[in-house]
Amino acid sequence: MINIADVFAEFKSDGLKRKHIYETRLEGIAGLPGVRAKINEIAIEKMRCALAGEDAAELEVALAQLADEEARIVRAAGIGRYNCEECADTGIKGKGYCACLLDRVYNQCYGAVDIGGITHGFDDFDTGVFDDAQVLESGKTQRWWMERYMKVARKYISDFPDTGKRNVLITGKTGLGKTYLLECIAKEAKEKGIDVMLIRAGELFRLFFDHRMGEDVDLSFLHRADLLLVDDIGTEPVTNNVSIEYFYELISKRLDAQKHTVYSTNIDDLQQRYDDRIASRLNSKEDSLMLLFDGADLRSRK
Ligand SMILES: [Zn+2]
Repeated sequence: MINIADVFAEFKSDGLKRKHIYETRLEGIAGLPGVRAKINEIAIEKMRCALAGEDAAELEVALAQLADEEARIVRAAGIGRYNCEECADTGIKGKGYCACLLDRVYNQCYGAVDIGGITHGFDDFDTGVFDDAQVLESGKTQRWWMERYMKVARKYISDFPDTGKRNVLITGKTGLGKTYLLECIAKEAKEKGIDVMLIRAGELFRLFFDHRMGEDVDLSFLHRADLLLVDDIGTEPVTNNVSIEYFYELISKRLDAQKHTVYSTNIDDLQQRYDDRIASRLNSKEDSLMLLFDGADLRSRK
């Protein structure tokens, strides 16, 4: 796993490479070097006037016209200056990191899912693949539940960060569409400009393990992402109490920092799989929206 300092260094280097390519391309644009040479010439003349105490108003006007001309030529060439226009390749936007830099950190340092690569979203979510015939114990069908939860999930993102309940716990058997729903949430959140990380539980616990083993793993981005989606908790290999401590720390720190987190799991008994503290926090009706998927495995049906 790449460490964060290396990702930052690579980001900076990519920005410089882009700048170099940009400058090189500009040099090749017909007319531009001439305009730039003229700008230099007049700028030097303006300095001379200033030193001599002469009026430079005409030169100012000429410079402004040339600057407009330069901008027009560059615009017409259609060469983008930055890899990311949002942050001008600084990696900083507003008070925090720009999504372009966070994506690299999440994917390369944390093994998070590349949300940009998710092709399905709420708009093309085909609930038709879910059974609408068999009435379940809940008195509803699988499709009914999926349509309902899609609406809940969509509202959660459209209301973000004022979601009422801060967390979501999605439970149900494997193959009922939990991951699919989570991916839709991730995609919609990203499109809305939310700082979101989607990570599979296996990756998350591997990070905990590596950290425990003394590797250079900075867990802080897990604690500070505005929206963290953890898929399939309970499927990670059972290691030891240490990873449970790390998981508890993650849940608690995010609750304390008032960050939003969505967990999906096929574990019915979280208390047995983890411990009381984790179960009570994840199952907290005060903090979490509970989406329970009723029904049999989608993939087991013909
Ligand atoms: Zn950016």
